[in-house]
Amino acid sequence: MTAELHRQTRTHLGRYLWATLLPIILFSISLAFPLYDQVRLSRLTRRELQGVATINRLYLCLTDLQKIRGLTQMALWGTEGVEKELVRIRQRFLDRFQDQNWQRQIRAFTMENEIRMLKSNAVHLFHVDPATTPFIDLFGEYSNLISDILRLMQLAADRSQLILDPELDTYYLIDILVKQIPYLAEAIGRLRGMGSGFLAKGSLSEQEAEQLQSFHSVIAARMETIRDEQVILAKVAPDLTRELELLPPQLDEIIATLCQQCRIMEGRQAGSRMVPRDFFLLATQAIGQLSPPYREAVFLLDSRLRQRQSRHIWKGSVIFLGSAIAILLMLYFNRSFYIRNLQLQKQLSELSITDPLTGLHNRRHLHAVFPTRLRHALRHGERLFLGFLDIDHFKRYNDIYGHTEGDRVLQQIASTMNRTLRRAEDYCFRIGGEEFCILFTEQDIKGAKAMADRLRRSLEQQRIPHEGNIPWGIVTMSLGLIEVPEEPDCDLAELMNRADQALYAAKNKGRNRYETG
Ligand code: GH3
Ligand code: MG
Ligand code: MG
Repeated sequence: MTAELHRQTRTHLGRYLWATLLPIILFSISLAFPLYDQVRLSRLTRRELQGVATINRLYLCLTDLQKIRGLTQMALWGTEGVEKELVRIRQRFLDRFQDQNWQRQIRAFTMENEIRMLKSNAVHLFHVDPATTPFIDLFGEYSNLISDILRLMQLAADRSQLILDPELDTYYLIDILVKQIPYLAEAIGRLRGMGSGFLAKGSLSEQEAEQLQSFHSVIAARMETIRDEQVILAKVAPDLTRELELLPPQLDEIIATLCQQCRIMEGRQAGSRMVPRDFFLLATQAIGQLSPPYREAVFLLDSRLRQRQSRHIWKGSVIFLGSAIAILLMLYFNRSFYIRNLQLQKQLSELSITDPLTGLHNRRHLHAVFPTRLRHALRHGERLFLGFLDIDHFKRYNDIYGHTEGDRVLQQIASTMNRTLRRAEDYCFRIGGEEFCILFTEQDIKGAKAMADRLRRSLEQQRIPHEGNIPWGIVTMSLGLIEVPEEPDCDLAELMNRADQALYAAKNKGRNRYETG
C-alpha cells in the first residue's frame, strides 16, 4: 500500500514536471520567433536611422562644397569680401568630419576609406591657387567631389539598408533625400556656375549652349519627379504631405527667371541680360530654397523610423513580458496544484490508516507496518513483541452506560496506550470494536511482560466505574502477549491468532490480567 502510494507520488511528480516543462519549452520556442523578429526589425530600423543621419550630413557637406565652389568663382571675378566667408565655410566643412557620432556611423557602414578620401581631396582643392589653375578645371574638380558625395549618399543608403526599406511612405522620402533633392541642388549649382560664367564671358559657343540646355532640362526633369513623388506621398502618407512642401513656389519663380536668362543667352529669346553676379546670387537663392524642405523631409523620415522602432520595441517587450508572466503564472499555479495535491494525497493516506474514533492506527496499517518493523528488528538484533488487548465486559458497559460513554472509554484507552508506549518505534492499533493491538520492542520477555502489566495498571488506575465488571467495578482490560519469532517471513495472521489465544486465556483466568502465548 505504502509502496503503491510512493510509486503514485513519483508518477505524480513526473506528470507535474512534464505538464510544466513541456508547455514552457514549446511556448518559449514558438514565442522566440516573433520576439527575435521584433529585435531584428528594431535593430534594422536603428541602422536605417543612422543611415538617415549620415545622408543628412553628406548633404550638408554637399551644400558646403557648392558654396565653396561658388565663392571661389566669385573671388576669381574679383568680388570683394568673399575670402573671409570662404575660409569660414571651408573650416565648417572640415569640422563636420570631426564629429564623434558621425565617425561611429561611418565605421558602422565601413565607409572610412571613402570619407577619408573625400576629406583629403577637398583639403587638396582648398590649397589650389585659383590664380594658377584655369577656373574651368577647378570647377570640374569641385563638381567631381560633389559627385563623389552624391555617390556616398547612395552608398550610405545601401549599407544602412534604407534602400531595402519595405514601407511605402518611407520609400519615397528616402528617394527624395538620397537622390532627387541632392541631384536637383547640384544641377542648379552647375547651372549657376556655367550661367554666370557665360554671362561674364558675354558669349557662348554652340557646345556651351547645348550644355546649358542640358542642365536646364535636368532641372526641369528633377522638379517633375519630385512633384510626382509628392503626389504619391500624399496618397500613401496623407499625414506627411500636410507638413511637407518639397518645392516651395518661390523656387519655381527663381528657376523660371534663371531659365529665361539662359534662353536669352542662347539667343532664343529677346530681353536684357543679367549681370553675372545677380544670376549667381539668384541661383544660390534657389539652392537655399531646397534646404528647409530637405531638413523637413529628414525630420519626417527620422520620426517615421523612430515611431517604427518604438513600435518594434513595444511589441517585443509585450511579447517578452507577456510570455514571462504567463510562464511564471503557469509555474506558480502548477506548483500550487502540485503541492495541494500532495497534501490531499497525504491527508488521504493518513485517513486510510487512521481509526477515526481513537486516532490510533488501524488494522490496515498494522499489516503495512509489520514487515518493515520486523526487518528493522532483525537487522538491529531487537526483540519484537505483539500484544492483543480487549476490554473486559464491554458489552455490559455499553448496556449500562450507553454507547456514547462506551466510545469515550475507547478514546481514554487509546490515550492511555499512547502515553504508555511512547517510543517512536512502539505502535498502537485499534483493530476491531474494542480490541487493540500493540507492537513494541523490549530487551526480553520480562521487560515485555512489565510493559503489558504497566498498560493494564494505567487503565486500572484511572478507575473508570463499570458496575458490570464484577468483581472490579471499574473498566479493566485483558492482554495476550507473544514474542515475534526472529524469522523474516513469519505470518502476521498466525501471530495474531496466537496472541488472541493468549488473550482468551487471560479472559478465562478471570480478566484484568495478561497472559503470554
Ligand atoms: P469480554 O470480557 O469477554 O471481552 O466481554 P465483552 O462484552 O467485552 O465481549 P466482546 O469483546 O465480544 O464485546 C464487544 C462489544 O464491544 C460489543 C459492542 O457492544 C462493543 N463495541 C464494539 N465496538 C464498539 C464501539 O465502537 N463503540 C462502543 N461504544 N462499543 C463498541
Ligand atoms: Mg472483544
Ligand atoms: Mg471485550
